[in-house]
Amino acid sequence: MTSAPIHQSGRHFLQLPGPTNTPPRVSEAVARATIDHRGPQFRTLALEVLAGIKPVFKTASPVIIYPSSATGAWEGALVNTLSPGDGVLMYETGWFATLWFRLAAKPGLAPELLPGDWRSPVDPQAIEARLAEDRAHRIKAVCVVHNETSTGVTSDIAAVRKAIDRADHPALLMVDVVSSAGAIDYRHDEWGVDVAICGSQKGLMLPPGLSFNVVSNKALDACQSARLPRGYWDWHDTLAANDSGAFPYTPATNLLQGLKVAIGMLNEEGLEAVFRRHRRAAEATRAAVRHWGFEPQCRHDQAHSPVLTAVRMPQGISADAVRRAALERCNMSLGGGLGQLADRIFRIGHLGDFSAAETLGTLAAIELSLRHAGIPHRSGGIEAAVAVLADERGSESPALVA
Ligand code: PLP
Repeated sequence: MTSAPIHQSGRHFLQLPGPTNTPPRVSEAVARATIDHRGPQFRTLALEVLAGIKPVFKTASPVIIYPSSATGAWEGALVNTLSPGDGVLMYETGWFATLWFRLAAKPGLAPELLPGDWRSPVDPQAIEARLAEDRAHRIKAVCVVHNETSTGVTSDIAAVRKAIDRADHPALLMVDVVSSAGAIDYRHDEWGVDVAICGSQKGLMLPPGLSFNVVSNKALDACQSARLPRGYWDWHDTLAANDSGAFPYTPATNLLQGLKVAIGMLNEEGLEAVFRRHRRAAEATRAAVRHWGFEPQCRHDQAHSPVLTAVRMPQGISADAVRRAALERCNMSLGGGLGQLADRIFRIGHLGDFSAAETLGTLAAIELSLRHAGIPHRSGGIEAAVAVLADERGSESPALVA
């Protein structure tokens, strides 16, 4: 017997830490008629977004835009700068750092993963110590995730840069900013990052489908001698074409139309205000979570992510039961636990385009879902969240801004 589909009224709350809710203005731009990717209208659009995206990463360097998921940009960063057998030092912040590590082995690199507990940020001292041992400079790149989306932990990238400098090591610094760019302060040039990797579906408020490499001069130099095979991902072809507003293949024209609008929205609000809005939503969410009697996955006060909160369930309680109740009873999607955290945590996204009303609506729906799922908790988490949002002085001391 098949059961009748449950009618879901109201709009769906997509409270994942990506993909995030696409603002109607961006959706409208993506839905506009497709244009000639070799015509003058596209050229103007391309030159505008290629220039307009740079301040989002706080860089004057070129930004490569690929029609791919962010995983493609991970690969683009590696194959454009490295050669077979090169050492790559990575840090196990969680699921996404681990995925990048596994990807790095595939084209013939020699990645090593410094162990982490999936509850803590990158330890710059561990990076420094490992680089200091590497006197032959076999390690050619240090790769870290700025905001680990699987755990809700943000790392201090400026401190990683300083660690590499203290070890006096020439390795490139590559940073995954997939869930931080456009939502958490990220300073590509000031922090001396060589390649940043990003995707469109999080702080940039677009649907999935675009990815980015932000490329320093040192990375461009490395690209001259890098010997890993590359075709589609080759920066040279793209940069040469981008000079005149073209791409070496058919670009994702409609997503680029959306990107122009999304960049405009970030500028309208102001990047610093965008960062503050995310920090406040995160504080309010943590207040509710703690009131309910649960613990965030992140165990360091200075490293709580502004864009998502991963909530640990007490031993023996299914985190997926909360997500199921949220979806079936509240028409809301929450993120699940990934890898070793499957069914142990659920993840609340407060990322992209949202208001205080949406933050509170999300938290109220979670409290309702906890009741529906029969999970013991202290009710009244919303009051705790409202108190944070009502306090105008909140969030004025940003964590992790060096
Ligand atoms: N890096 C981080 C930090 C992510 O959160 C994700 C996806 O959520 C990825 C990389 C992979 O991105 P994609 O699924 O777009 O390939």
